[in-house]
Amino acid sequence: MNLHEYQAKQIFADHNLPVSKNFLVTNSKEVKKAFNVIGGDKWVMKTQVHAGGRGKVGGVKLIDNIEDGIKFTNQWIGKRLISKQTDEKGQPVSVVMVEPCIEIEKELYLSAVVDRSAKAISIIASGEGGVNIEEVAETNPEKIFYEKIDLIIGPQPYQARRLSEALHLDAQQSNEFWNLFKNLVKMFVDCDMSLVEINPLIITSEGHLHCLDAKVNLDSNALFRQSNLANMRDLSQEDPQECEASNHDLSYVSLDGNIGCMVNGAGLAMGTMDTIKFYGGEPANFLDVGGAATKERVAKAFKIILNDPKVKVILVNIFGGIVRCDLIAEGIIAAVKETELVIPIVVRLEGNNSKLGSDMLQKSSLAIESDNDLENAAKKAILLAE
Ligand code: GDP
Ligand code: MG
Repeated sequence: MNLHEYQAKQIFADHNLPVSKNFLVTNSKEVKKAFNVIGGDKWVMKTQVHAGGRGKVGGVKLIDNIEDGIKFTNQWIGKRLISKQTDEKGQPVSVVMVEPCIEIEKELYLSAVVDRSAKAISIIASGEGGVNIEEVAETNPEKIFYEKIDLIIGPQPYQARRLSEALHLDAQQSNEFWNLFKNLVKMFVDCDMSLVEINPLIITSEGHLHCLDAKVNLDSNALFRQSNLANMRDLSQEDPQECEASNHDLSYVSLDGNIGCMVNGAGLAMGTMDTIKFYGGEPANFLDVGGAATKERVAKAFKIILNDPKVKVILVNIFGGIVRCDLIAEGIIAAVKETELVIPIVVRLEGNNSKLGSDMLQKSSLAIESDNDLENAAKKAILLAE
């Protein structure tokens, strides 16, 4: 689950990471108050969306008068921000965050991610932070530094010292960095985060470290024990189909193709998508109805797939392990009748009671093609999608 920058910074502040105070505005009438509350004579206004790359498309602006602040707010609130990190439709903007503008001496980069293969948290740092960090990673990988945090012994001073040196920090900044480093790891673990990115982490003109941006991703599997954080979820930033699916415990990811897929098991779903691709088709989604695929879930899954206007055909690929294929067939028939399905559907059933299931589909006199060979079923679906 992603958080907004202002939410991430609230958590940062709670864990003693250096951030500015901020004020949120949702319309231009609130700008004057925001500037007064923050004080000073220069501010930064930042659109709040679940994506970075805002600076490069005008979604972050330094502002020194109320008129420009009002203009910025009117320009963005209610609109969508499209950046390198969004899809082509962009993300809706409903909140703008105001902070005091800080003078930057240098932009650094600091992030933390779960490194599964090392069974550790990987801390990544660079002295070349800012809006072009992706380029630095590509062209100058030697300018990116890593430390792995062993979760049993925790972050060690020597690791912070090594990074401080790599970032050319002075003695006082190195002290600040050690605090930041250990607080970052503590926050990461306490809040079940899967990613934190501070880009830029800056050295201010007064020589202090300060977190200017904050991106946080939480481990969705741990939200059950992070109810305060779970409440920060902003559904407006998520794909409505994916939300609807997750409410019904279906794993759904929408994609760009035109063949809707309904599969039980993530591995089989991947295999199905690969097979479609292999024969020249394009899947419209990844959808795992889960091991305990019931009639009701099958019906729900159909509705979610059909909400996508790109879908021209549905390929169902079910392996009957625990689940019985005749029950799935029953679910498919009910769902097709209920949704008054007008697009073709190809069904491949294998395993437990698959023969019985296929017979039921055939006898149903509905426009359902049944083929128990996956390759044939995929080819049929591709043909029908054309
Ligand atoms: P992103 O583009 O979505 O990652 O948004 P950021 O919050 O990282 O802002 C983009 C850029 O705006 C930063 O890299 C800074 O160069 C600049 N910026 C943001 N806040 C300030 C500020 O307070 N002072 C100054 N001088 N620049 C800022
Ligand atoms: Mg940034």
